[in-house]
Amino acid sequence: MKKIFILAIAVVFPVFLALNVAGDDNSKLEIKVLVDDEPARKLDMLLVDKKGYLAIDDVARIFNAELEPGKKPGEKVLDFSRGKVIFTDNSPYVIINWIRRRMNKSPLSIEGRTWVPLEGIISSAFVGVVGRTVTWNYSKKTLRVIKKSEKKEEIEEEIKKAVNITSVNIYPHKNYTRSVIRLSEDLTYKFTRVEDKKLFLRVQNGSVDTEAGTYTLDDDVIKGIRSIQDTDSALIELELGKNAGGHIVEKKTRPLRIVVDIKKKVKEEEEDKIKKTAKAKKRIRTIVIDPGHGGKDPGAIGPRGTKEKDVVLRIARQLARYLKKNLKCRVIMTRSSDIFIPLAQRTEIANQKKADLFISIHANASLRKNTRGFEIFFLSEKATDAEAQAVANKENEVIILERGIDRSDELYKILGEMAIYEFINDSSEACSFVSKAVSKSGRLINRGVKQAGFHVLRGAGMPSVLIECAFISNPTEEKRLKNSAFQSRIAKSIGEGIKEYKEWTERGN
Ligand SMILES: [Zn+2]
Repeated sequence: MKKIFILAIAVVFPVFLALNVAGDDNSKLEIKVLVDDEPARKLDMLLVDKKGYLAIDDVARIFNAELEPGKKPGEKVLDFSRGKVIFTDNSPYVIINWIRRRMNKSPLSIEGRTWVPLEGIISSAFVGVVGRTVTWNYSKKTLRVIKKSEKKEEIEEEIKKAVNITSVNIYPHKNYTRSVIRLSEDLTYKFTRVEDKKLFLRVQNGSVDTEAGTYTLDDDVIKGIRSIQDTDSALIELELGKNAGGHIVEKKTRPLRIVVDIKKKVKEEEEDKIKKTAKAKKRIRTIVIDPGHGGKDPGAIGPRGTKEKDVVLRIARQLARYLKKNLKCRVIMTRSSDIFIPLAQRTEIANQKKADLFISIHANASLRKNTRGFEIFFLSEKATDAEAQAVANKENEVIILERGIDRSDELYKILGEMAIYEFINDSSEACSFVSKAVSKSGRLINRGVKQAGFHVLRGAGMPSVLIECAFISNPTEEKRLKNSAFQSRIAKSIGEGIKEYKEWTERGN
């Protein structure tokens, strides 16, 4: 009995001691610190209740600061060349350049060593004093300190590499304000809304540039955004304005991002009024026709060598003629000869001309020789099916012929993001009118209306459709595509569909 008692003390005592030293539920985590080009150093992070703490002497070494005791008991002063930061043991208040700020946790004093909360070191206020960007990546257990060099682009590159939340943007629209949080890896999130004041988005394992992700803007739906780095997650806080209405929060892919839409609150009478005037004012005055491909990009090539770029140009010309004559509207072609135009530039033309409808004309191709028929598409994130996706992939291939496309591709994805939802309904309506007219003509097999992610339709600030007239890969249809009577017949059917869509739109549906 006595023996067991002694053994019990021997086991319990060291454990008791450890608990006593650093409070409950704590452990040390070895992390990597990367400063500029210096070799990586390793140090211990203290974890208490899932929150990280760094020893203040380590912090001083990382940032080349002088560490001195303060005037009051428990005060520790970090003196950087640009300013001072004062932490106090067991107090959540930190003084950064004479401004008192509150942290969620207080520094801990353990055996004479002060441990400061990680949140204090990666806050934008702290970053301002040290004159460097500090990022924390929980999944890589890495703290990175990025030098502010002269070259802004270089810093941005460095920060992008270090974080997995690569940007936090806000786009105000007429009826809603959208916030887009871009991710470089697939992260999970949770969100909570606090009445009409705030929406919090917690991204697990998220690592964010708190400085770039914190700003205010002049919008009555989302007034500002604050990015906060916690030990195991990032918190994105949207400050809502007086007109913030309902919200939709979704994760999307290609590119990976979390999209938060906050609708604008409108009084009911106002809403009716807006709807009525919007309907009354909707007119289709300008239509842009885009003959696919051109120049160095031949598009699909038929078994007898017919090039897509040539036949679609002829069909587009016929369509333009029909629309001018029967719809009495302005018709603009993105190209009227055999020239190369990057995809992004095609919708840019439509945007510049303030077009009310964008029609891209193509001819389809399939590995199966017998596949034939007419198809019409509108832009969407998700393809109707694998075949629709394959058509989009084929039409998007030209991207590799376009120089310096990476940037504009990115840009157009963002622009597409802004445009898609506003015009998706009208685009699908336009599709169904054209599809019906083509069926009625009875001359073509109609494969129906589909949706897929076409680059050429991205960024269009108006309803837009992409038409695959027939299969150039099918010998019979290749022959028809070259035939001028067929070209004008199909142009007429498309034109009739557009005419009905125009009337439907201008009637206010
Ligand atoms: Zn094409």
